[in-house]
Amino acid sequence: MAHYCTGVTPQGPRRCVEVDLKASGRTHAQAFPERTCVGCRTRAAKGDLLRIAVIEGECVPDPRGTLPGRGAYLHPAPACLDLAVRRRALPRAFRERGPLGTDAVRAFLGRPAGEAPPRASRGEQAQR
Ligand SMILES: [Zn+2]
Repeated sequence: MAHYCTGVTPQGPRRCVEVDLKASGRTHAQAFPERTCVGCRTRAAKGDLLRIAVIEGECVPDPRGTLPGRGAYLHPAPACLDLAVRRRALPRAFRERGPLGTDAVRAFLGRPAGEAPPRASRGEQAQR
């Protein structure tokens, strides 16, 4: 009946869509996700950056990437946080007009290595 693609396929337009998706390189992009640090503007693997989310005007660290809404990515280093604050990169990243509080992120970065916060969901995972 109707032709949704330029290619001629006996199976119909659906098959064309499937082929397009597979050839679009999405697999590669997912294997090496990269983000730009809002502080030093260096690209880095997503896993090496700390996700920052905003809750009621306060930047909060989101190391597990579970908070909803817009996210910004930052090297987990106080120097990069300082750069981001000085450049006002965080309000820009979150499309906010006013300044955003960064105390929670600063406290998170200031934590000595190896002294990670207790994981609340550990019991849940063990039960499954
Ligand atoms: Zn950085």
